[in-house]
Amino acid sequence: MNIPYLIIIIEAIIFGLVVGSFLNVCIYRLPLNKSVMGRSFCPLCKKQIPIYRNIPIISYVIQLGKSACCKKSISIQYPLIEALTAVISVVTLFHSTSLLQYVIWFTLFMCPLIIVSIVDFKLKIIPDQISIPFIVVGVGVHLYELWPNWSGALIDSVLGILVGGGTLLILGEIISRVKKVDAMGGGDVKLAAMFGAFLGWRALVFIFLASSILALIYAVACIVTKKQDDDKTIPFGPFLSMAAMIAWLYGKTLTDWYFYSIVGLPFNILFP
Ligand SMILES: [Zn+2]
Repeated sequence: MNIPYLIIIIEAIIFGLVVGSFLNVCIYRLPLNKSVMGRSFCPLCKKQIPIYRNIPIISYVIQLGKSACCKKSISIQYPLIEALTAVISVVTLFHSTSLLQYVIWFTLFMCPLIIVSIVDFKLKIIPDQISIPFIVVGVGVHLYELWPNWSGALIDSVLGILVGGGTLLILGEIISRVKKVDAMGGGDVKLAAMFGAFLGWRALVFIFLASSILALIYAVACIVTKKQDDDKTIPFGPFLSMAAMIAWLYGKTLTDWYFYSIVGLPFNILFP
């Protein structure tokens, strides 16, 4: 590994930590319908946090997990999300073929998905402020990926929105009629439409399958450890998001292996 590349990796880690710190703000403020701009303040006593006390992870460690203003415990969620964002930043860098591709997919795809996953996991809602505008952003990113084949990219994106949103809409409708409960949240429908916009309709087959497997593993783990929520439901957004990240990072590698080696086809149906 040469030195310039090492420097880029270190920059991706620092960039990930700083962005992760901003994602913490979004995760806290978006469900409250508050602006994500403006200075950081202590969630416990509402005092402004000076910039030198707002350094990702380092401030948390120096202050031994307590806030400097009111000496109360800060949730471990803050440094964990900063670290997670840094890891995803580096993984995205490794997967990208250019710096521009890294910046686009990390900031416009990975970061919104981190916010959606954590908010849905904690509050069981998917903020519309993310899923709706990023359907449009997704179309733009898909155009960038497949440029100069812009007409093919546009058709693929629109089909993705329809297949993603439509599948979950119909599935939710069937389940709620049969079981007489509100099974699939409207947030999941918009989220799947967003993935369709970014990745095209074929990737959705992979995303639906992978997210179902991930959610099933989590559900079984919940039953075994008896850590179920009172309403006995699990949020689907985090698993959809995880599957979408895996689809962009490893979807082609995994399905290449499946179609060529296991099925024995001469082509890959989902990631051509
Ligand atoms: Zn405070």
